[in-house]
Amino acid sequence: MIHEILPVGMLQCNCSIFGDEQTHEAIVVDPGDEIGAVQEILARHNLRVKAIVITHAHIDHIGGAAKLKRATGAPVYMNENDAELRDHLDVQAAWLGVPEPERTEIDMPAQEGDQLRLGTATFHVIHTPGHTQGSLSLWIPAENKLVAGDTLFRDSIGRTDLPGGDSRQIVQSIREKLFKLPEDAIVIPGHGEVTTIAHEKRFNPFVGGGL
Ligand SMILES: [Zn+2]
Repeated sequence: MIHEILPVGMLQCNCSIFGDEQTHEAIVVDPGDEIGAVQEILARHNLRVKAIVITHAHIDHIGGAAKLKRATGAPVYMNENDAELRDHLDVQAAWLGVPEPERTEIDMPAQEGDQLRLGTATFHVIHTPGHTQGSLSLWIPAENKLVAGDTLFRDSIGRTDLPGGDSRQIVQSIREKLFKLPEDAIVIPGHGEVTTIAHEKRFNPFVGGGL
């Protein structure tokens, strides 16, 4: 499977572009900004977007979704618990001092247990609230990869001091859901370097690592 990770925007959100070589279909996760660059990657691999998945409705992850949807016609998957955050993109834009991006509709409400197909691979939706109430992660067994949004970072976790954040809940999501995945699973966080489940169990100080 094609997988390109493109850090986009001022906050360098990791946008993931997954493509199937046979069907030429793609799933784009968190197109926060720089949609032109995302489209260049899609064109380079001759990919057609079948789904846009938003891990949570923070502006750096969702900011370019409406633009990419308009360019590709692909539906937007997101958890509806983040609808209110999505409705306040103007407030989020003001925090960052950037122009307010176009608001996107949620075409397909994504929930725990939902599955998306890309070629022969299955993308499993895991609801991992805590950073926001609608935060979700994508588990792709065929690739042994987890796209974790801002729930889990290398040696850190997402902040919980913003609206919808809950520090106990994020730790619970990580321990009870993400840490059940294989030790050698590769974690693509919403920002920064990739990591593995084993590394985070061992070293992440926010979820009992280093004990
Ligand atoms: Zn976030």
